[in-house]
Amino acid sequence: MSWRADVLSIFPSMFPGPLGESLAGKAMEAGSWSLKVTDIRDFGLGRHRSVDDTPFGGGAGMVMRPDVLDAAIGSVADERPLIVLTPRGAPLTQKRVRELAGGPGVILLCGRFEGIDQRVIDARQAEEVSIGDYILSGGEVAALVLLDAAIRLLPGVMGAAESAVEESFSAPLLEYPHYTRPAVWAQRAVPETLTSGNHAAIAAWRLAAARQTTKTRRPDLYNQYIASGASAP
Ligand code: SAM
Repeated sequence: MSWRADVLSIFPSMFPGPLGESLAGKAMEAGSWSLKVTDIRDFGLGRHRSVDDTPFGGGAGMVMRPDVLDAAIGSVADERPLIVLTPRGAPLTQKRVRELAGGPGVILLCGRFEGIDQRVIDARQAEEVSIGDYILSGGEVAALVLLDAAIRLLPGVMGAAESAVEESFSAPLLEYPHYTRPAVWAQRAVPETLTSGNHAAIAAWRLAAARQTTKTRRPDLYNQYIASGASAP
């Protein structure tokens, strides 16, 4: 059975968006994954299909109502993990993406306004996930990010040419830099080792470059790498 994604949003026309193109789009056409988008407003209240209300305790903005969201979730809920996209969530990692890609799919709830009434998140035991320490205007772009990261890991989606094995965060090291033709461009030559044809030397050069970049740019990842038993260069 193919991997199934459900998205709950008040802007359903934002999907599939970029996921209808390239690898993800072809994989959807091939039936490797499917997407169903539910308009939360279908469960809204009154003539205006209202989905939000003012926050208890005061403050700016509106909060998405738990009763409306619970009805929308109930229309699609099953054994798949329910994920709420929120800057308050645990940061999304490649490890979690790999786990999600290995499961039956996901149900994603996209917030808007000031956010979502916490009670529905707690009652539904939803997982709260953030895609980074910045504030988006809505959860839809975050949902697209999560889906893109997971879909490319589904069996058969990436060809050998796009293999995920050596990618950043698999190690956990950032990836080494890439070069292609021409060998000299704008008076900049490709590192000599890469044109040597010596596969062992190339592998060693790439590992050293990956370590150096990670050490400089992401000391947190580098420390994890060393703690996992890798020897310091
Ligand atoms: N008031 C919220 C706060 O300060 O944490 C921000 C709400 S934001 C304007 C509206 C919605 O965008 C959120 O409910 C969430 O669904 C989504 N969102 C914003 N930033 C996000 C992030 N970094 N990761 C995941 N979702 C995000």
